Amino acid sequence: MQKIDIAIAGCGIGGLSAALMLHGQGHRLTLFERFAEPKPVGSGLMIQPTGLSVLDSLGLAGQVFSLGAPVDALLGLNTEDEPVLEAAYADLSFPQAVGIGIHRSSLFDVLFEAVQKAGITVETGREVDRTELGSGGRTLHFADRPQSPAFDLVVDALGVGSTLVPPASATLPYGALWATVDWPSSGPFNPRLLEQRYRRADQMVGLLPVGQGKAAFFWSLKGEDFPAWRDAGMAAFHDQVCALWPALEPVMVQLTEPDQLAFARYSHRTSPAAIGDRLVHIGDSWHAASPQLGQGANMALLDARGLAVAIAQTDSLEDALKRYVALRSSHVRLYQALAWMFTPPFQSGSIWPALFRDLFMAPASRIPPGPRLKANLVAGLVGARLGELELEVPDYSALS
Ligand SMILES: Cc1cc2nc3c(=O)[nH]c(=O)nc-3n(C[C@H](O)[C@H](O)[C@H](O)COP(=O)(O)OP(=O)(O)OC[C@H]3O[C@@H](n4cnc5c(N)ncnc54)[C@H](O)[C@@H]3O)c2cc1C
Repeated sequence: MQKIDIAIAGCGIGGLSAALMLHGQGHRLTLFERFAEPKPVGSGLMIQPTGLSVLDSLGLAGQVFSLGAPVDALLGLNTEDEPVLEAAYADLSFPQAVGIGIHRSSLFDVLFEAVQKAGITVETGREVDRTELGSGGRTLHFADRPQSPAFDLVVDALGVGSTLVPPASATLPYGALWATVDWPSSGPFNPRLLEQRYRRADQMVGLLPVGQGKAAFFWSLKGEDFPAWRDAGMAAFHDQVCALWPALEPVMVQLTEPDQLAFARYSHRTSPAAIGDRLVHIGDSWHAASPQLGQGANMALLDARGLAVAIAQTDSLEDALKRYVALRSSHVRLYQALAWMFTPPFQSGSIWPALFRDLFMAPASRIPPGPRLKANLVAGLVGARLGELELEVPDYSALS
């Protein structure tokens, strides 16, 4: 396709990676972000083999690998100390595969530095309100600034609260409190495991290594219970967490103020359309889900790759957007359905999903080919169509 003018709204994981790829193809890029200084919000996340393959295509896998922590497996135990969630990357068909636990800011810094190095224009302090299509192309409109010039294409990478998709009620009852803590060197913790503990499905606590001596701590909490949690005070919280997972004591002594924890509300929403006239949605603006399966950032990276490949393979913008949908929609639909199914067994107020998890789901998933299927699901690889996205799983032995 001939070189075009592209606006990307949102300087998050999807927006930054799409900017790098499309700039690399020679298109003219401008990124718009509401923050005065682009910055990531939140604590840790997992980069799966899918996401790492995209980062590898950008030449950034080594940096991400060195800043994060290699994670061999996910392990979740119930109050009887029975494993009810187990997935090991060793069950994948390629050697030395791992997930990478990483602080959101480390991933952001790697992508943002690459954008700056590439000389891509980033316009900050631009709160995107809406977009309009005119004869000269598509413009972005901002809260209290003049509108943008017209672009051939607007990429909506505004995340779950995008103002460029129809508003929809998407907030799930449960979210989680997140905090970054020092890795507890005392205690029975394996630095290569993402571990969780559950009481039924209404209590969940987890610890994810994120590299550089740090861990992400998370505690499941209902949105409506957040004010009561603040009122109850940190001593009560400490007792509640340690009653579920006593070994977490060295983590809990680090958390003395409520403001050390950020409450993340989770959403589940798939926008009715991924594309419009000179408009495309990538990442959470297209499909947001609770992070039970740890896929959101990886999906945003894959969307960015899908868009770049589609634009490179086609002669017209219309064909490119259709190709993007063809490349990505089946994977998006599958993982949206899986996230919807897997949320209640791990976050709900009802006893039944937890019983189903403990009595049927966990035992059944241990019977072959259960372990391999689970590993592929967690790795994001089921239906990801890496070949069509011109991606290969990175060579983990070279990275480590
Ligand atoms: C607590 C938590 C834990 C998670 N854990 C994982 C995990 O383990 N693995 C995983 O893969 N995913 C995880 N996710 C999901 C993942 O973070 C998201 O799916 C991913 O960040 C989506 O990328 P994005 O580029 O679509 O949006 P974002 O990364 O959210 O970026 C959106 C950008 O747009 C900007 N923006 C928003 N609105 C406007 C506006 N009106 N005007 C201008 N700019 C705007 C924002 O400031 C931001 O920079 C988690 C999410 C949460 C909340």
